[in-house]
Amino acid sequence: MAKVGPLKIRSFVWRLYQGRVPVTSNLITRGVNIPTVACQLCTLESEDVDHLFVHCPISSQLWKMTSTWLGFPLDAENSIQSVCSKVYNYNGTSLRRKITSLITYSTIWTLWKTRNDWIFTKRAKTIGRLMEEVKLQSFNWINYRSSNLMVSWEIWCKSPAEGVKTDFVFGVGRLICRALVDSRVLWRSAFFQVLVVLASLIVFDFNMLVALEL
Ligand SMILES: [Zn+2]
Repeated sequence: MAKVGPLKIRSFVWRLYQGRVPVTSNLITRGVNIPTVACQLCTLESEDVDHLFVHCPISSQLWKMTSTWLGFPLDAENSIQSVCSKVYNYNGTSLRRKITSLITYSTIWTLWKTRNDWIFTKRAKTIGRLMEEVKLQSFNWINYRSSNLMVSWEIWCKSPAEGVKTDFVFGVGRLICRALVDSRVLWRSAFFQVLVVLASLIVFDFNMLVALEL
């Protein structure tokens, strides 16, 4: 899958691909005492990686909606490994590969957050709400975390695969701004030091002028 989106999410999806995220079946294997083995989203079957992220009725419905919106079928796979492999092997343009990866990350992360929200806060969400989260989250990743990708919210909601543009000048500008923000402490410090030097020179020159006049 393409290197887009937050590192934390990419790392999570990599662990998910290897079956190493803390779903109920994995926790039980590790000897953790769990009150119920049922899936937290549907309560119909036991929770393992493939059920939670692929076969659960809620996940399945979300993948259907995501696939329709993206224009790339990810809703007919038998396992989460198969979903990730399909995205990884997608033979589209570089930009379309990035968008497809980003939306896959967003769908997976939304399912995981929804599952955890239900466990810890008992807040249920409608499937429409989950789809909105997939769109908004991926939109934010595109606009605020990619170096040179940008899209408007209206176009993103309508056609994510077509609407994203790359802009070299915009990308360079954003990188410079980010570098300045990232090094703001150093920048402030350097700026302060330059000010001190300039002030010293002015004071020295003033003193010299006064001395010469005398
Ligand atoms: Zn389920």
